[in-house]
Amino acid sequence: MKTEDKNKLLTDEEKIALVSGKDFMYTNPVSRLGIKSISMSDGPHGLRKQAEEYDNGITVSEPATAFPTAAATASSFNEENLRLLGVAIAEECLHYGVDIILGPGTNIKRNPLCGRNFEYFSEDPYLAGKVSSAMINGVQSKGVGVAIKHFALNNSENYRLMGNSIADMRAIREIYLKPFEIAVKEAKPDTVMCAYNKINGTYCSENKWLLSDVLRDEWGFEGAVMTDWGAMHNRVNAIKAGLDIEMPGDTTYCRRQLFDAKEDPEVKKSLDASAERVVKLAEKYSQNKRRNADFEAHNALAARIAEDSAVLLKNDGTLPLSKQENVLVIGELFSKMRYQGAGSSLINAIKVTSPKDAFDSLNINYKYVKGYEENKVCHNEELVNEAKEEAKNYEKILVFMGLTDYVESEGCDRENMRLPENQLKLIEELCKLGKKIAVVLFGGSPFELPFEKNVNAILNMYLPGQNGGTATANLLFGEVNPSGKLAETWLKSYDCVPFGDLYSKEEREIYKEGIYVGYRYHTSYPENILYPFGYGLSYTEFEYKNLELEENEECIKATFDLSNIGTRFGKEVAELYISKKSSNIARPKRELKAFVKVSLNPSETKRVSMEIKKSDLAVFDIEENKWIVEDGEYTVEIAKNSLNVNLSSQIYVNCKQIKENSRLSKYPSAEDILSLTNEEFEKFSGMKIPEKTPPLPLTLESRFTNFKLTFFGKIIYKAVLSMSTKSLKKAKKLPEGTEKENRIKGAVFLGHMLNSNSANSMAMCAGKTISYNITEGLVELANGHIFKALKCFLTKIKAPDLPN
Ligand code: BGC
Repeated sequence: MKTEDKNKLLTDEEKIALVSGKDFMYTNPVSRLGIKSISMSDGPHGLRKQAEEYDNGITVSEPATAFPTAAATASSFNEENLRLLGVAIAEECLHYGVDIILGPGTNIKRNPLCGRNFEYFSEDPYLAGKVSSAMINGVQSKGVGVAIKHFALNNSENYRLMGNSIADMRAIREIYLKPFEIAVKEAKPDTVMCAYNKINGTYCSENKWLLSDVLRDEWGFEGAVMTDWGAMHNRVNAIKAGLDIEMPGDTTYCRRQLFDAKEDPEVKKSLDASAERVVKLAEKYSQNKRRNADFEAHNALAARIAEDSAVLLKNDGTLPLSKQENVLVIGELFSKMRYQGAGSSLINAIKVTSPKDAFDSLNINYKYVKGYEENKVCHNEELVNEAKEEAKNYEKILVFMGLTDYVESEGCDRENMRLPENQLKLIEELCKLGKKIAVVLFGGSPFELPFEKNVNAILNMYLPGQNGGTATANLLFGEVNPSGKLAETWLKSYDCVPFGDLYSKEEREIYKEGIYVGYRYHTSYPENILYPFGYGLSYTEFEYKNLELEENEECIKATFDLSNIGTRFGKEVAELYISKKSSNIARPKRELKAFVKVSLNPSETKRVSMEIKKSDLAVFDIEENKWIVEDGEYTVEIAKNSLNVNLSSQIYVNCKQIKENSRLSKYPSAEDILSLTNEEFEKFSGMKIPEKTPPLPLTLESRFTNFKLTFFGKIIYKAVLSMSTKSLKKAKKLPEGTEKENRIKGAVFLGHMLNSNSANSMAMCAGKTISYNITEGLVELANGHIFKALKCFLTKIKAPDLPN
């Protein structure tokens, strides 16, 4: 039967079933018409396909390849890596019969403390958009779909479920929506996952402006929009806004709402359109055939991508090491490498190769001491002393350090930008010995490096995936030359982050820094930067020469010579920035508009070109609600990184004058932003900053930690939180191994997630076990309203059964 005929035959009950999940990772099928259930899996840097228990990141899943996470892959500045990673993930989807992978995570890294930065690509919208597109193209080339997430302005974890992101439209368009815009237009994702939070007062799941006006009407998106898991609030508002699929779904409460409203012409029209979109996807995926994936090849690919992504931050010639050297290795992350983050993206890696495994298989002559315990933060004197004693016998020491799952995870933001105390104490002591020290770093986001001046080399692996050990060894011993560059700024200290002290402290998240995110702010204060955006060293040297600009009606093309002037093969990322010295609008010092990664043999020179569209020079005019390109002279800069420009030249673009007294011309500069008052922010943005929400009375949207403020609330809070303590206890009893580690990670994550949860999201996620009226009753009870609570408990919400 043709798809159009199926659509015509659908009953209202079937349409309502189609726009909801059946259980955690499947949509409802309509067997009568042969419409299959769409199967999904997290995402985003490998598959988390669960066999029996369904949750987002707590229990163990089917074995799959854990690829380097987005924080790493973006640093490769190499779209081909993301395409290949996408293809490989799609192959594993086909292996396990998965139709949609929940990713990529395309959100901007607004603040270095965001607990989920490891899953996101960059602080720069162009880079995040390009690598997202490449990954989507890779996945979808195999017939598997993606859910690009979390749309949008989901930039913190502590209040992710109830947070209200208050931002001005220029920042929203130029920074936060831009990567999604690039990916939607260039790669046409099958689905978009809306974020939990509100944008300027409206939940993303019921935000018509976001889901219909911008996403569909402006960008031409033709796929389906699903909620993040439990992000539904009002089902009727949501369907009218353009939200198609409710996930994980199957809540009687939402089904009831749709049944009651189905005769409303607007709801009817939206329901028809949403059901049709789901049918279209189900039909598309029904063509996919299950076939075995080549996990060995994917394991090798994971190492290649990790090698291409690692960033050499410092080197006085100590690296590369020679395999003949006798080195001392210190730091438990050497044997217990942190290769992925915790939360819904947690993968049951099919095979893990730590640096220790890789050193052993290469027969490296080394001695290893622990130095600290990876799963603790407190300093252990005995381990430090042992490391110091041993170090006396060596000239070179290799120290493995980094963020652990205990300080960085989905579900909460980091408390500070420091490494765990035990690691800091260790390196401080080692630096006093006067030895040559090379440091290898793991972690999903930047941290302060107080010891930076006292060590000789630093290699940052980020979270390199399951075969990160092989990659680390190949880079350390010079088999591969490092070529990654930072996709985010590394600061000397967290104090330099604009409005950093206000970040993630309450529901209202005021994006007062506007467009000055990451290097767009920090390039105005270079003294605060430890390593700039776009920075990374190599074991060889590169030279840039002879820039020429050409233009036509639509494009500007920059061509230059890039030479490898060292003695090793290497790859260089060349970056193209645009700046405008004289402008009627406040602008960041420079903005990335193109990049290219070039391979060069020793003494080789290549003539390299990068092209940008003139429309890419546009800024968003809040007043006129449209993109405009300002008239005048622009500087095209070819740079090694966002602070070091190698070549530059001017070009005149004939376009539009910006009126002197327009709202756009009053946008604050990076220099003005710190002293901006709330009133000034409201004035230039046109946004009203809402009053703080009082913690009491408790509502369905209250953060779970607020329940601790009342007598009954505390009891409910403890009962809920006991889920995580119980699973932690259970996990700790398991025999040593990956399953134990993953279960411990899952339990720790569950604790974070429950704390930041809301009663609404719980009801929307656990519709089958805790129905909406019970949740409403619990909130009433926590407020001390016993009779109201009883009434809720007894008022069962009923809806017609699902059609199948
Ligand atoms: C996360 C999503 C994830 C989903 C399903 C949510 O809590 O925010 O990124 O895809 O769970 O596990």
